[in-house]
Amino acid sequence: MITTELSNISNIIQNQREFFQTGKTKDVNFRIEQLKNLKQAIIEHEQSIVEALKADLHKPEVETYLTEISVIKDIDYAIKHLQNWTKPQKAAVSWDFFSYSAKIYPEPLGVVLIIGPWNYPFQLIISPLIGAIAAGNCAIIKPSEIASHTSDVIAKIIAKHFDPAYLAVVEGGVEASQKLLAEKFDHIFFTGGTAVGKIIMAAAAKYLTPVTLELGGKSPCIVDTDINLEHTVRRISWGKFINAGQTCIAPDYLLVNKTIKKDLIDGLEKSLKEFYGENPANSPDYARIISQKHFDRLVNFLKDGEVVIGGENQPSERYIAPTLIDNVSLEDSVMQEEIFGPILPIIEYTDIAEAIALINSRPKPLALYLFSQDKNLQKRVLQETSSGGVCINDTVMQVGVSSLPFGGVGDSGIGNYHGKASFDTFSHKKSVLQNSFWLDLKWRYAPYQGKLPLIKKLLG
Ligand code: NAD
Repeated sequence: MITTELSNISNIIQNQREFFQTGKTKDVNFRIEQLKNLKQAIIEHEQSIVEALKADLHKPEVETYLTEISVIKDIDYAIKHLQNWTKPQKAAVSWDFFSYSAKIYPEPLGVVLIIGPWNYPFQLIISPLIGAIAAGNCAIIKPSEIASHTSDVIAKIIAKHFDPAYLAVVEGGVEASQKLLAEKFDHIFFTGGTAVGKIIMAAAAKYLTPVTLELGGKSPCIVDTDINLEHTVRRISWGKFINAGQTCIAPDYLLVNKTIKKDLIDGLEKSLKEFYGENPANSPDYARIISQKHFDRLVNFLKDGEVVIGGENQPSERYIAPTLIDNVSLEDSVMQEEIFGPILPIIEYTDIAEAIALINSRPKPLALYLFSQDKNLQKRVLQETSSGGVCINDTVMQVGVSSLPFGGVGDSGIGNYHGKASFDTFSHKKSVLQNSFWLDLKWRYAPYQGKLPLIKKLLG
């Protein structure tokens, strides 16, 4: 394990500041080279990444490729578009500014800090890092200590392939985070829970450091009657139970039209058998809960409502079967906090207005899912609710589209990233206005006497 001495943190930052000052990271070719370097490093360590995720989360290899190593696609996307993103953008000027030209120059922020969670512990560190590199920053990375094997692999990869004066990993838990947060950075990119997000923002405020907070919350999944049931149940089961439900944008609870509830439950049961067989504990394709603490928290939810599918669990393996709970009340603990595990409560509605009112009575979610082909219903839900993102007739797939900014709103986060949005997040947009010398109209200069009518005319 490569553990950076915590007492060394100030030195690492100082070295990065000096490296940043050399201007090397501003060179677009340097950035492209580093992105290629990162891609190569990931490919070289693919096997260790798969093994680390297996050890941390019992993550099936296919899921590791689909949701962690797939971050390589984001590197290719950044390399492809970087020349274009870094070009100064011409900005329009109004006729009274006819002698001026205006441009927006994206410039790197400096030394940034990236703090990651444990659920997609590789992807959620590397994906923001791609934005930081593309935008020309130096970066310090703090992976989650809870996914300790993945944290080690990230530390090894970065130490082997990059100069610590450019990119460095600091491993550790709360103490390491706190040491880092005591320092001044030019941006902090945090992915994790809402409670810790508040701590990060408070620490950042001390230095007026801008933050991106990628947080969580309870993402609702509305199921109307106008659907293809077979496709719906498969897409919900996949999005909910991939990584054993430990996904920030997993459907947290179902809001189901009463008339279709029975069919939906039967369909979900069928799809789960199709995915994981009669006993998901024996399936090689089903992950485990990250820690005993989270296992205990989740098992507590099983006391709520009536378990209609699953419910089995094995503490020694930190296994919880894919579980559906019916007849929950909004006061039950399972409906009070983000579930972040393989437990899906069902709440029925008779009129969509009830579902919308419930969503709007709670903090704004990171994702909202709607299964319905009814265009009017789609329009209504889009107009009457607010969430970080929406995916209609599918789950989780919105995260894979590079042209869509990904992030929360309200309690589910501040700022966004992916594709160009990542580049923007780690860049400052410097406005540059240029005048010429061929003319110098005097209407704005003192003495002002007699100039008011012209100024009023200009304003009108
Ligand atoms: P967490 O907030 O507990 O931890 C995240 C990071 O913060 C870790 O690196 C941890 O070491 C650090 N940390 C923990 N306590 C701290 C403290 N007191 N001071 C400073 N740093 C501290 O989150 P988690 O349990 O790793 O992840 C689960 C949460 O993350 C869920 O709420 C989930 O929805 C959210 N999440 C959001 C996204 C997203 O993209 N929006 C993605 C994944 C997870």
